[in-house]
Amino acid sequence: MLNSTPIPPTNCPYCLRKMNRAGGPDPAARPFPGAFVICMKCSEISMMNDDLSLRKLTAEELDEVRNNGDLQHQIANFRGFILWRKKMEAHGKN
Ligand SMILES: [Zn+2]
Repeated sequence: MLNSTPIPPTNCPYCLRKMNRAGGPDPAARPFPGAFVICMKCSEISMMNDDLSLRKLTAEELDEVRNNGDLQHQIANFRGFILWRKKMEAHGKN
């Protein structure tokens, strides 16, 4: 369901979570410069730089996300998956 690929260690620009993998709901997707990356912890969307580090989106990029129906759909799916995973993890601790 979820595919992830190793990337050079970097931090989420929003919650500062250390990330060394990037993934998404599309198994064909691979991290590449200019890709939208969703944080597995805070589920914020960041942009992949040329060196595969992450930065916050610009206002233009945020608009691009908001106006892209496919991307919105993928993000909604991904956020649903993150919530589901958190629930499963919480269950496992009981
Ligand atoms: Zn984050």
